[in-house]
Amino acid sequence: MIATIDPNRLWQSIMDIAEIAPTPEGGSCRLALTPEDAAARALFLRWCQPLGLHHEQDAIGNMFLRRPGTDATAPAVAFGSHLDTVPTGGRFDGIAGVLAGLEVIRALHHAGVPTKAPLELVNWTNEEGSRFRPAMMGSRVAAGELPLDTALATTDDNGISVARALSDTGQAGTLIPAPRDWSAWLELHIEQGPVMEATGAEIGIVVATMHARYFQLTVTGEPSHVGPTEMNRRHDSLAAAAEIVLAVERIALAAEPFGRASTSWIENIPNARGNVPHITRLHCDVRHNKAGEAIAMETSLRRTLSDIAARRGVRIDVDPYATFGPIAFDTKLGALLRAKAADRQLPTRDMIAAAGHDSVLMAPLVPSAMLFVPSVGGITHNPKEYSTKEQIAHGAQVLLDTVLELATA
Ligand SMILES: [Zn+2]
Repeated sequence: MIATIDPNRLWQSIMDIAEIAPTPEGGSCRLALTPEDAAARALFLRWCQPLGLHHEQDAIGNMFLRRPGTDATAPAVAFGSHLDTVPTGGRFDGIAGVLAGLEVIRALHHAGVPTKAPLELVNWTNEEGSRFRPAMMGSRVAAGELPLDTALATTDDNGISVARALSDTGQAGTLIPAPRDWSAWLELHIEQGPVMEATGAEIGIVVATMHARYFQLTVTGEPSHVGPTEMNRRHDSLAAAAEIVLAVERIALAAEPFGRASTSWIENIPNARGNVPHITRLHCDVRHNKAGEAIAMETSLRRTLSDIAARRGVRIDVDPYATFGPIAFDTKLGALLRAKAADRQLPTRDMIAAAGHDSVLMAPLVPSAMLFVPSVGGITHNPKEYSTKEQIAHGAQVLLDTVLELATA
């Protein structure tokens, strides 16, 4: 029997979960390990229940939903993504991957199609890193790249730790986070860029990722009064940070078209009217499809920081807290995705992922691949983020066809 994706069922699930913590502009805001994230997880579990999946959860909150295979000893074929969002989240980033995975299992279940290998559907914790840094936290911990204790001790901007958020939302599982017994890892994701739409590709075969380097910069100046303190006696951390923000942007502009760099977070102390700020923290990242170029961007940034520090009499500490990539995804799995897309007459295009994804953490551990579906207008991390019902269904069908081949071989 042939298992076929139901585009309407998949679309309806994506629309239904978007109603949890909707934003006025049509997106969703479900930061990791908030009550809203927990509500989305609960709905997801409710959908999994009639499918007879075995639910396991690890101590960082990663969710694993297992459909048994006919061969209990075979390693599982795993797939999924993340349900958490950024504050200005759309309806598709991450969610499309988890719910396409759910649809794969629903389609197999309703068609009565068994697989030889078990299947595992995954929702990774805190992929976005908006509330707790670093991004891809759950998969980092599972991959052994980030110690569990370090992750649990990480706090958000209100001083709430990951451990506390996990227990408050009932998401701390009992499994020790660790690599699992998988033969393959697959992730469907929206492109988050304009290339596929512009070139008419329906399925993006992600062959590699960029290399990204993340920093926390702490600028330390001197507290003083905005009135009496003459301009030449000030050591204003925020003014220094302003120079840094523009320097970060300049470094990326000089590395176009593949260079990207941003300052995405700022904390200013005491952030009080009447005070010249004396501590300003920034989170920045530089990235490029060539690792050497990303490192050169960092070198250039560090040189600029030394110059700003010397000129303004402030101290600038650099904490390089995370990196990802560059990852080359498994070429055999890439070829299989390409072949399955061709079987469905879906035009493909090889893609490089500029964003970080949980697949980056899986790639060194297990043969891994990602497939993209188009993002209308390339808009993402924005309530206007959109992919059509058909585009997502096409991606889910290719995912299903690929999973079936891997799990029955
Ligand atoms: Zn994502």
